[in-house]
Amino acid sequence: MAKKPNQGTICVQSGWRPKNGEPRMLPIFQSTTFKYDDSDQMARLFDLKDTGYFYTRLQNPTNDTVADKIKELEGGVAAMLTSSGQAASFYSVFNICEAGSHFIASNNIYGGTYNLFGVTMKKLGIDCTFFDPDCTDEEIERLIKPNTKCIFGETISNPGCHVFDIERFARMAHRHGLPLIIDNTFATPINCRPIEWGADIVIHSTTKYLDGHATSVGGCIVDSGNFDWLAHAEKFPGLCQPDESYHGLTYAKAFGKNAFITKATAQIMRDLGSIQSPFNAFLLNLGIETLHLRMQRHCENAKRVAEFLSKNEKVAWISYPGLPTDKYYSLGQKYLPEGSCGVIAFGLKGDRETAIKFMDSLRMISIVTHVADARTCVLHPASHTHRQLSEDQLRAAGIAPDLIRLSVGIEDVEDIIADIKQALGE
Ligand SMILES: *Cc1c(COP(=O)(O)O)cnc(C)c1O
Repeated sequence: MAKKPNQGTICVQSGWRPKNGEPRMLPIFQSTTFKYDDSDQMARLFDLKDTGYFYTRLQNPTNDTVADKIKELEGGVAAMLTSSGQAASFYSVFNICEAGSHFIASNNIYGGTYNLFGVTMKKLGIDCTFFDPDCTDEEIERLIKPNTKCIFGETISNPGCHVFDIERFARMAHRHGLPLIIDNTFATPINCRPIEWGADIVIHSTTKYLDGHATSVGGCIVDSGNFDWLAHAEKFPGLCQPDESYHGLTYAKAFGKNAFITKATAQIMRDLGSIQSPFNAFLLNLGIETLHLRMQRHCENAKRVAEFLSKNEKVAWISYPGLPTDKYYSLGQKYLPEGSCGVIAFGLKGDRETAIKFMDSLRMISIVTHVADARTCVLHPASHTHRQLSEDQLRAAGIAPDLIRLSVGIEDVEDIIADIKQALGE
């Protein structure tokens, strides 16, 4: 058997594999619908008896080709694109939860996800308890109830830059018959493959490094195929009991390892419709072609900037798992030996105003809501992305009010450091 290609080769070569005479580059199938010669063929698609495309709200060939590449990068068995990272987080949990369900999530996650889980999903009758990943197994396992359906965490948290102990939480989840869902947005599959550490489902906001150029909002869900739904059938009725909207078909029996993604596509995407546009998927694919090169440069640059900041007397604290003095250095060495990502969290001595004055003084580095693309940028979560949270909630989510999130890009690092220096008044 041919050797499996390495990550850099998958980034460039996987996904679209043209046959003789076909376009070399992935085509954008900018079409809502797909044509069939007879009505029976179409009917079989609607019954999930055949696979094929019929309407882009559910599936599109451009999207699926790109999802396939991400699936290969993550080492999963099935994947789908969504219109945003938020949709990916929501679908990954909603696919196995319904009103009356409960799940637990790290409190050290992206602010949008925190809000989705803690506020919006509550309105649907799905209850989330947040845990501090630094607590003991016993303290966290005490939160697991008979109606608990999954555990959720981020490989590297946005914006705190804390590293999640994936293997430990996978063990904990599996002890209780639960899947572990990991948001791998910041690490990307170049720096960490959560499935190899026991994660069952991996999600991404492809808006960040995977796209890498700040062109397209998007998301992705990858299934490892490893979780045995039927072994816990009473806990996951949506996968293990007949779906009336498909003539009583049972996903886990009909689709085996593809059950999770098939259900998320055929049922949740059908009904909620957060599909990615094929054009965005095309841009995403273009971004992924250089992901391995960009991540290497992001990490090299961020390490230099982190070293500079850690030695600067105006800096009160810094969180970057690549620094040997960092609280998460050893977890970083375990899960992210090639480097973490380009994002650094730090605080300046002084107050909120000091942080704002520093950011306003930057010239090349811009203030944007975005993070994790080619251009260096900054954000003050307490004033921007997390402004709905109270000071207590901020602290509970591991975000100091003075935290500045610096997303180090792939420019020449000397220019990045020079801009930071001048903004610090040096
Ligand atoms: C941005 C982000 C999301 C949300 O993704 P969108 O594409 O903005 O919807 C989820 N998780 C993490 C870690 C993120 O950084």
